[in-house]
Amino acid sequence: MHAMKDWRQKGISLKTTSILMMMISLIITAGLVIAAIRVHSSFRRTEESTNNYIRMENAATELMAASDYLTEEVRHYTVMGNRECMENYFHEAEETRRREHAISVMESELPDSPALIRLKESMAESIDLMNREYYAMRLMLEAQGDTDLPETLKNIELKPEDSALGAEEKIKLAQQLVHDTAYNEQRASIHSAMEDCVKTLKEITLGAQLEMENKAGRELLAMILLVFFQTAAMIVMMWLTTHLGVNPVLRAVEHIRKDQELPIVGASEFRYLAGTYNVMYNAYKKSIENLNFKASHDELTGVYNRAGYDLIRSSLDLSSTAMLLFDADKFKSINDRCGHETGDQVLIKIANTLKNHFRSDDYVCRIGGDEFVVFMVHLKHDPKKLIESKIRRINRELADESDGLEAISLSAGVSCHPDIKDPEEMFRQADIALYYVKDHGRDGVCFYSEKLKGKTKP
Ligand code: GH3
Ligand code: MG
Repeated sequence: MHAMKDWRQKGISLKTTSILMMMISLIITAGLVIAAIRVHSSFRRTEESTNNYIRMENAATELMAASDYLTEEVRHYTVMGNRECMENYFHEAEETRRREHAISVMESELPDSPALIRLKESMAESIDLMNREYYAMRLMLEAQGDTDLPETLKNIELKPEDSALGAEEKIKLAQQLVHDTAYNEQRASIHSAMEDCVKTLKEITLGAQLEMENKAGRELLAMILLVFFQTAAMIVMMWLTTHLGVNPVLRAVEHIRKDQELPIVGASEFRYLAGTYNVMYNAYKKSIENLNFKASHDELTGVYNRAGYDLIRSSLDLSSTAMLLFDADKFKSINDRCGHETGDQVLIKIANTLKNHFRSDDYVCRIGGDEFVVFMVHLKHDPKKLIESKIRRINRELADESDGLEAISLSAGVSCHPDIKDPEEMFRQADIALYYVKDHGRDGVCFYSEKLKGKTKP
């Protein structure tokens, strides 16, 4: 259980990583939405600012045009004496009031701006100019004997010396009042004050517009960066998913195909899975091994049984192998005299003695009641002498009764030939050789040769 916990703790959890990446992605998306809203509002404010600028420009044009119009009309009136010009003047000054409208437009856009205060001041200065114009028009009306005075001019009192002037002089004086240098200078100064103020107001509006544009630019840059981070986060997530999830699964499939344990790699979830799989896999392997062992080994002696023998002989390189077929001599009589159980003990002793006298590479099999086969493998030289000496020593050991068991001897037939290919043929040769030993006194060994070819068991 502890080991399983370790596998889980060591790796990066795919679940945690996914949640983390999802949160990062959500934060970035939220940032993107906020940036988009701010860009939108910046653009809207820039648009508003542009409209303000246009309104301001129109207002400035109107203001100048109205001012020029008033001068023009009053001058016309003093030169041409056309009353209509005076009426136009008052219509503009008191009804159309373009200058006042223009100022109220500017006021609505930039209510407390110092530039606007200066503009209003210069408008106040223009009252002097207007009084001069009223006076000139009053003189004209007097000169023309026109008694239909507009409301504003009723309050204008002519100086007694001007009142005493003749019609021609009054007209001259009126013309002089709206054409002389003083009038022009006053007008020019008011004009330039207005121009300055309007220019300043426009600059303020343009400045605000520029600031909005810069702000929108910064927000757009932030959006680009966020999109970049979002893309980077997606790439990291894809890499992690591949590295922690997909690759370990593909590797696991490969290992399962090769019937191997799974590597403990990738996300902690896969480590947990692989660890659990390996525990199950090892348990399963062990039980298969047990089953295989039971199926291929003799329960009494622990050496290979008949099934094991069949498997072994078909997998060997017979050209470098010697097959030794053993049969216990007069074994039946031990069973008869000492009982079956003692017979079993003797069989166990035979198996152990055979195992002890051959190399661990060699195979010892019990293929029948008291019949054993030993495969001596990877032989490089003629093994005849070696086999003879081994069998001598085996029989000497089996003749020793110090362990309380009856003495027994083995007869052995050997088949060993570099050209042999068929295991059945090999067994047949060993069996003929064994028969020869049994027929010639037992307790010994015979190597199959051409001489024995014709001899068969009865
Ligand atoms: P020989 O020298 O001619 O081989 O004589 P033998 O008495 O050994 O005759 P044989 O090999 O034909 O007899 C083998 C005997 O082994 C026959 C059977 O009663 C006995 N046997 C077979 N399997 C077992 C076993 O598992 N346990 C015991 N105790 N005896 C067995
Ligand atoms: Mg026997």
